[in-house]
Amino acid sequence: MNAQVLWDLLSIPFLPPFRPSKQNSYLNARIPWQNNVHRQWWRDHGMRKNVLSVVLLYSANFQLGYDETLFNSLLALPVWNRTFNDPSGSRLGLMAAYVSFGHMLTVPVIHMLVDNLGRKRAIFLGCIISTTGGFGSGNQYPNSGLCALSTSSYTLDSSIQRIEHDQGKHDEALRILAKYHANGNTEDELVQQEFHEIAAHIQQDIDAGNVHWRNLLQSAGNRRRMLVLTLAVSGTLVLGSGIARNYSTIVLKSIGIKDPARITAINGGLGFWFTIWTSAGALSADKVGRRTLYLGSTIGMLLSLCVITGLSALFETHTNNTPIAIGVLVSFFVFTAFHQAGWTALYSLYLIEILPFSIRGKALNWTNFIQASSVLSTNFLDPIALNAIQWKYYLVFIGLEVVYLGLVWLFFVETKGGTIEQASIIFDRGNSKPASPTVSEEHKDLAIPAIQRNSINTNRQKIERLYGRYMSVSSVRGCVRPSSSSWATTMGLESIQFCGSPCGEIVQKTFVHPELAADEVAVKVTHSGLCGTDLHFVTTDMVLGHEAIGIVHSIGSDVSAVKVGDRVGWGYPNWTCGKCEWCLRGEDNYCPNWKIYGLADLEQGGLSSVSVRKEQWLFKIPESMSSEDAAPLMCGGSTVWTPLVNHVKPYHRVGIVGIGGLGHLAIQFAAKMGVEVVVFSATESKRGEALQLGAKEFYLTQNIDDYSALGITKQIDRLIICTSAKLNLGLFYPILNAQAMIFPLTASDGELTVPYFATVRNGLHISGSVIATRFMQKKALEFAARNGVHVIVERFPMTLDGVQAAMARLRDGKMRYRAVLSWNNND
Ligand SMILES: [Zn+2]
Ligand SMILES: [Zn+2]
Repeated sequence: MNAQVLWDLLSIPFLPPFRPSKQNSYLNARIPWQNNVHRQWWRDHGMRKNVLSVVLLYSANFQLGYDETLFNSLLALPVWNRTFNDPSGSRLGLMAAYVSFGHMLTVPVIHMLVDNLGRKRAIFLGCIISTTGGFGSGNQYPNSGLCALSTSSYTLDSSIQRIEHDQGKHDEALRILAKYHANGNTEDELVQQEFHEIAAHIQQDIDAGNVHWRNLLQSAGNRRRMLVLTLAVSGTLVLGSGIARNYSTIVLKSIGIKDPARITAINGGLGFWFTIWTSAGALSADKVGRRTLYLGSTIGMLLSLCVITGLSALFETHTNNTPIAIGVLVSFFVFTAFHQAGWTALYSLYLIEILPFSIRGKALNWTNFIQASSVLSTNFLDPIALNAIQWKYYLVFIGLEVVYLGLVWLFFVETKGGTIEQASIIFDRGNSKPASPTVSEEHKDLAIPAIQRNSINTNRQKIERLYGRYMSVSSVRGCVRPSSSSWATTMGLESIQFCGSPCGEIVQKTFVHPELAADEVAVKVTHSGLCGTDLHFVTTDMVLGHEAIGIVHSIGSDVSAVKVGDRVGWGYPNWTCGKCEWCLRGEDNYCPNWKIYGLADLEQGGLSSVSVRKEQWLFKIPESMSSEDAAPLMCGGSTVWTPLVNHVKPYHRVGIVGIGGLGHLAIQFAAKMGVEVVVFSATESKRGEALQLGAKEFYLTQNIDDYSALGITKQIDRLIICTSAKLNLGLFYPILNAQAMIFPLTASDGELTVPYFATVRNGLHISGSVIATRFMQKKALEFAARNGVHVIVERFPMTLDGVQAAMARLRDGKMRYRAVLSWNNND
């Protein structure tokens, strides 16, 4: 093993601390999980049973607690001390630590027992052993079985084990999930979601060969998991809590409380105190968040321990000073409250949340080992150290707490509100290579001969055929986690997608498309334009982009308009009904039943590697036209084309307001139609460009309140508004011809106000217009190709960074003039 390999193996990925925020919107992008039987679990028969089993299992912990608490209480009794010749120091330590010897002995076999016998039988065996009192470690069986359970679903995990061990038992797993989470309804949405997520994850783990002991350290993500796990387990047990648990009697004696009755009363009170704070911590974990709770708990412990240490030192010189003794006692209670509310309350919950299924069994075995050795060392060392250096021993814990605080800050991640799969993504982002090359590699590999499915289960087939499925979500910049290629061949066509999210952050997802319907076409996207309208959808959980060009990858059984290999494009609509009056008139861009971008098919969009479209609204791209020129014509181009081609005569003077994404296309279309083009812009620097694109006249409107002073030679017949800036249309009235038409084209909100009487007197028309009919879209492409309409584009790579950069530039109004993102640019 050379040095590099060793280093790779030992290095723990240092990632900035994770906090859910606008920058980390993976939680917002999650699939909603909810119980469909009843929102309140206690009114759901299956969930009630489920929760009851979990409660029962967790109560097994009382056995271990019983040993320690009992031991602590015995220390207070003179008769016990007399019988055992007043044990202290190492002898006392040994007596307390013996429980953990047995625990350590069971570590190697627990994993085997749990995996081979199954959870239920292993727990049963553990109960028998601990009941018969065979040896001190018996109670570790239920304890380890318990650790293997997710807090909400024992059944979930055991069903997973079955899937893992026997591919034929999927139906049984589904049945168990359904029994506890949907009162037996296997078609329930939640059950289906859970089942697919679990099955997919296990398959992915198997594909990745992620099932051996060495995997615990093989990937950077797993190394970090093991580090966090080790810290969480050892921190719970060694950060001074051992003293609170086992030796509070010694502490009490050290501050002059020696009456056995009083000690027992305080210890009893401490028991209640623990329960209150553990419950409080556990109940607040979903609100406060795991990481915050760990940090808060450690800081609280650190501060109260400083007070305890200071007061204890003071007590040494002021023996029998009651206020100081009370001060120590109160701080001791505060210290334990913080410990219980954070470290103890999160103990099992957090471990389960950070461990993916595949390594959970082995990782929890490691947990058992850390747990046993922590308990062993602290139980053994505490009485020796307390005996030898008294309060100065607390200084060791202060040091430890500072170290743990730093490590928690650095390595603990927030798992609140997400699924185990989502937590996995945070850990595994350290495994990924930089975005661009990976994406393009992956994209190239997408050429799968046909959409095949080798589904695991009929229900799964059904739901995926209907909805497709999301496999992974990542909003982490520069992080792509392509799944193994076997997914694509067994599940359908996989696509990388760039989506909006509720917080407005662009999110990268991996989506597996459902099987094609008869009228559907799978298109491998090569280019996608970005339109001002896209800005309205960045806060929606949907795939962005509606000006896309790509190559037909595969077609549904009824598709005849395009064939595999054709270069096609699409814009805003995906489907129109073909039956309404507007469709019958051929003005299908006003079909009231249409399915369009932002309202339907949210899992399909242009900013992706593969999109599935209806045949109906796909357009073949003329051969002489580049894809960069074609993409923006699918929405921006068709928007300006429609009013020009429908309402402009060769003798008209056409005014274009604003030179941007729309305006620079409108100038070209109008000029190439042969009409006089007059451009109005607030930016002098665009004069040259406007004239070059074909404008005959250019008027600077900046700071001008009376347009009759512009010195315009002849009045305007058609005015095309291409700017999204709020315009006072009345300003243009002095330079409009009678019966002139005004076309506001951008998707702006607010009110449009115009001078009332002048509109009436001059017979003016103000007309809306939206994209183009299918016929007109086709003609626009042909016209643009024939006349050489070229889009002025800024190029961006189709990566998370590329999409974010393009969106930012568009939002800031700096785009010159249309963004085109392409997979080619990724190289
Ligand atoms: Zn658009
Ligand atoms: Zn229609």
